[in-house]
Amino acid sequence: MTTEPTNALAKLTHNLTTDASQQKFILMKDFLEHTAPGKFETISYRSSAYGQDTRRVVALPPIELHCDTCEKLTNYEHHSNQCDFIGKRSDKFITYTCRNCKKASVTYAIQFIVENESLTHIQKYGQNPAFGPRTPKKFLAALGKEADLFLKGRRAENQALGIAAYAYYRRVLDAKKDLLFDKVIAAANELGAEPALIQELTTAKKATRFTEATRTLRSAMPRSLLINGENPLTLLHDALSDGLHNQTDVQCLEAAGNVRVVLIHFIEQLDLALQKDQAVSIAAAAIKRQKNKLEKPEEQ
Ligand SMILES: [Zn+2]
Repeated sequence: MTTEPTNALAKLTHNLTTDASQQKFILMKDFLEHTAPGKFETISYRSSAYGQDTRRVVALPPIELHCDTCEKLTNYEHHSNQCDFIGKRSDKFITYTCRNCKKASVTYAIQFIVENESLTHIQKYGQNPAFGPRTPKKFLAALGKEADLFLKGRRAENQALGIAAYAYYRRVLDAKKDLLFDKVIAAANELGAEPALIQELTTAKKATRFTEATRTLRSAMPRSLLINGENPLTLLHDALSDGLHNQTDVQCLEAAGNVRVVLIHFIEQLDLALQKDQAVSIAAAAIKRQKNKLEKPEEQ
């Protein structure tokens, strides 16, 4: 969250041009759906006299977001389709509700800084639920009590707090090392991996920290578990091993984003491999039962 208005103003004056017609403005719908917190954009608004002052009205059109209740992309709307304010600056909470279920909502904390009679600069202080790709519910459920740490990492990432996000995700991986290795070993077993790999993973799992456990992995993973041809455990190790001490905030932010994407994708891949194999085992067992029945009709 931007807490220093002077910084915000400094940023603005740096970017301002004096001729409003030269400025590009964004549609409110695009701003709400796609602009990350902390980034200034310019939007147009209507104004009318309000006593000695001016009343400024910003249209709030329907927007499209994913609804976790409806489990699909739906339309969200604001109850009055507009918000208004008096004066040159204003901070507003704006809430949109899912038009379909009328239960899910998203609230934006927004700052308006008027530039002239038709344009205002605008930024999100933040939003709830957090901006950015959503975190799958199944993934959060798998993290158990560490889901809270992961979501704190997600919030830190949304506010560009790279070192914080990085530290939260590393804590999650250290706490969930055993769960992750158990899933990898189970999936590797089901996918018919070499015994050497299973042995290596079982030994590695005994290390205390995630980066220690993944440092010495050498054996090839089953192809269907690779991400872009790389071992995901090695990718996570490489993103985390350089540590907080050597990297800048910006580098940590990038590493944290990579860790999040790879971890979510990898756990989904592992679950998929295990589910597929379960389905195959059930089908194989059913075929075997049927075959036995045909071979031993006298038992029926
Ligand atoms: Zn809904």
